Amino acid sequence: MLTEGAVCEGGKSRLNKTGSWRNLRPEVSERCNGCGICELFCPDSAIAIEDKKCVIDYDYCKGCGICAKECPKEAIEMKEERK
Ligand code: SF4
Ligand code: SF4
Repeated sequence: MLTEGAVCEGGKSRLNKTGSWRNLRPEVSERCNGCGICELFCPDSAIAIEDKKCVIDYDYCKGCGICAKECPKEAIEMKEERK
């Protein structure tokens, strides 16, 4: 339990692999032009732009779907995660 007013140590988010929470999986299509908007909106910093394409780190993507909603090219489709 945290004492009231306590401040947690920073920099811990990389230790928590939020990808295990995911029920929906974002998949990027050929329509992606690498604009980087999805990278800006991803709350888990799970997106990088490499060679002008969106690349998702599924270890950290929790499947919230924000990237799919914000993509102006409709290049990201949320699909059911197969576990
Ligand atoms: S917002 Fe869409 S078009 Fe832009 S990088 Fe992301 S997936 Fe690609
Ligand atoms: S679904 Fe959410 S967590 Fe996963 S890449 Fe898109 S914005 Fe990031």
